[in-house]
Amino acid sequence: MKRKILTIAAIIFLSQQVFSQDSYLKVEAKDSLKVYPGGTKYEVKTFPQKFKAKKPKNVIVMIGDGMGVAQVFAALTANGGNLYLDNFKHVGFAKTASSDNYITDSAAGGTALSTGQKTYNGAIGVNTDTVAIKTILEMAEEKGLATGLVSTSAITHATPASYIAHQGSRGSYEDIAADFLKTDIDVFIGGGYNHFAQRKDGRDLTRDLQHNGYQVLRDMDEISKVKSGKLAGLIADEHNEVYPNRKMDLPLSTETALNILSQNKKGFFIMIEGSQIDWGGHANNTIYIVNETLDFDRAVGKALEFAAKDSETLIIVTADHETGGMAVVGGDMKSGMVKGAYTTGGHSAIMVPVFSYGPGAENFTGIMENTDIPKNIMKLLGL
Ligand code: MG
Ligand code: ZN
Repeated sequence: MKRKILTIAAIIFLSQQVFSQDSYLKVEAKDSLKVYPGGTKYEVKTFPQKFKAKKPKNVIVMIGDGMGVAQVFAALTANGGNLYLDNFKHVGFAKTASSDNYITDSAAGGTALSTGQKTYNGAIGVNTDTVAIKTILEMAEEKGLATGLVSTSAITHATPASYIAHQGSRGSYEDIAADFLKTDIDVFIGGGYNHFAQRKDGRDLTRDLQHNGYQVLRDMDEISKVKSGKLAGLIADEHNEVYPNRKMDLPLSTETALNILSQNKKGFFIMIEGSQIDWGGHANNTIYIVNETLDFDRAVGKALEFAAKDSETLIIVTADHETGGMAVVGGDMKSGMVKGAYTTGGHSAIMVPVFSYGPGAENFTGIMENTDIPKNIMKLLGL
């Protein structure tokens, strides 16, 4: 009798387990966007690790917005086990908290990376008292280096804006666009045309840009043909489309910008952003995340190609924060299938990876504050 009760209890217990596991699987299966099924892979080149100088002449900062270790590993799996990021032999982690929040947004995260100061969520290039702080791009410019910004979002969006604008609030897109005119930046490529040309104040800043000697272009082919001079590439009206539908090409924009900037004998500073890894994370969409991270990695490949040849260029690849609280819960290195799981639709607090390559790369290892990254670059460039 005792045995019978135990058996019945066991059956009830097991059937509930089976039911709950099944219903769990059904939820996962319905949400097909959480599984990247595998797709086209690209070959990753290996670059030399020997450099001419001890200190860099040029610095390329690449920000994968929302790119944590899970996003990197998902992309690595999708590409069959390798990424251009494999060339980075110096790796560390950055803590990303802002001055007022355990979890940063892209404005405070961008400002920490552009100025070396922690500030409040929403702040663009200003401190906790909303006073403008000089950014590393502005310092580089003052020292005679060429400067650039490339982004797959609007060029006025939080991450690129943090390097060039000073506004109390990230949503002030038209004021951020106007701040571009207060600088002497050499090359910028992204979206955000309307913030320059379709403004509430009726001004057309693209005319001012032209007056200041910029080639203002909206077509990717035309942009990619620019070899010298000042360039304002404003491809989309607002944000560029999702990969692969966007007209803006991140690897090609990277190559174009580096070729123009490298003509400056004194060196250059550029920030290049893969903006939409973050939006894939907000959507808990593994396909979106993988496509955007792979696109970003191919841009890293273009930067490596330049730096390996140049031998005086430091590349730092990092993130402003992680998005989605993503975990990789399944995958196959052969097919490239990878399955993501998510714990939030927002950002998470976890440390982000810091990859560095080139002269001075050894300064960016271990656990650091995100603000240590620009501080170290400033030291290396003598800013
Ligand atoms: Mg961003
Ligand atoms: Zn975000």
